Parts: sequence; C-alpha cells; structure tokens
Amino acid sequence: MTYYKILVNKDTRIEELYYENIVKPSLVPVETFKNNDMLYNIFHVEDKTTYLEKTTANKFNLLRNYAKGNNVILGITSGFLTFEQQMFKYEYFVRKRGKEFAEKSACFPGYSEHNTGLALDCDIFKNNKWGGIALDSEGNINSETAWLHTVLHKFGFILRYPKGKENITKMKFEPWHIRYVGEDVSKFIYEKRITLEEYCKLESNI
Ligand SMILES: [Zn+2]
Repeated sequence: MTYYKILVNKDTRIEELYYENIVKPSLVPVETFKNNDMLYNIFHVEDKTTYLEKTTANKFNLLRNYAKGNNVILGITSGFLTFEQQMFKYEYFVRKRGKEFAEKSACFPGYSEHNTGLALDCDIFKNNKWGGIALDSEGNINSETAWLHTVLHKFGFILRYPKGKENITKMKFEPWHIRYVGEDVSKFIYEKRITLEEYCKLESNI
C-alpha cells in the first residue's frame, strides 16, 4: 500500500523494495497539457508520457479543474522519474550549472521525491506562455502562484520546499514542486505552517 506520508529527502532515501513493489505498480499516465520535450532531452524519456501515483494523479486533476474555474491554468513539467532519469537530471544540472547548484536542486537517485510518484513540478500558463510559476528576477512569485499555494491543501497537496524553511528542507524555495500527502496531513501542515520534515518529527514524538 502506498504510504502517502513517506519522507524522502537528502538524508532519507526511498527503499529499493518500496520503489520496485509499491511505487512502480501504482503509476498511471497523466496528461500534462505541456510539451514534454524537456523530459525527452534531459531525462531520456522515450515515450514522453508523464506518470504519477494513481491517487496523486486523480487529486491533481481535481486541483487543475478547480484552478481552471479560478482562471489559473495548470500544467505539469515533471512527474515520476525513474532512478535512471534522476541520474540524467543530476548530471545535466552539474554540466549546466555546476555541482553546488545541482546539489541544491536535483537529488541523487533514491533521494528525490520524484522517485515516489507522489510529487510533481507544476506550471502556470500566463500571457500566452508557460513559465508563470517561475520566480521573477527579484525572487518573487506572481499572484496566481500565491493563490495556488493557498488551495493546495484542499486537495491533499503541500508546497514541499517553502520560502524560509530552506534550513530544514535543505532545498531552495521551489514554488512549483508540490507533493501529495493526503488531506488530513496537508491541512495540518498548511495550518501549522510547517514542513514534512517537521511533521514527521512531531508524529514520531507522539
Ligand atoms: Zn520537483
């Protein structure tokens, strides 16, 4: 059974058996509404299909419909990545931006949430192009992105690497990376303004 609260970060890798026996069989194809050439060029994904864990895919579709009703058009940049694709991603960032940048933004195989099928990088279509969720030159987000961050929890998602929590997540602020944890946990995390790391620590102390 899928464990929606699973913690995967730079210190905690996904177990090989969990990856093979739980993650891989639970994947379903999901429509991205974006051109996925980046997946092909960087991650060597031959068929360009994006996959997510089944419930995560369903909930994202609900979130996307809800956003659409509020004039925010969502797409997916990147969903599940295999260990092999994760390695391509890491090496790509090392080549393009250097080792330090790669360490901060692309994890090794097994240490990335993209290997769980529960996480995705989303995007917003604005002014006739994708890229609406990216940080501006001053490191700020636009109003659509800010709005999105206030509704994620209603669909079981959390903003996984929020601003101001970099010392805990060990990741820079990523307004696009969202993670499915289930509605109970997402609401708790949102209301308490904590991270998944802090949630897991609290839970282990109960
Ligand atoms: Zn991501």
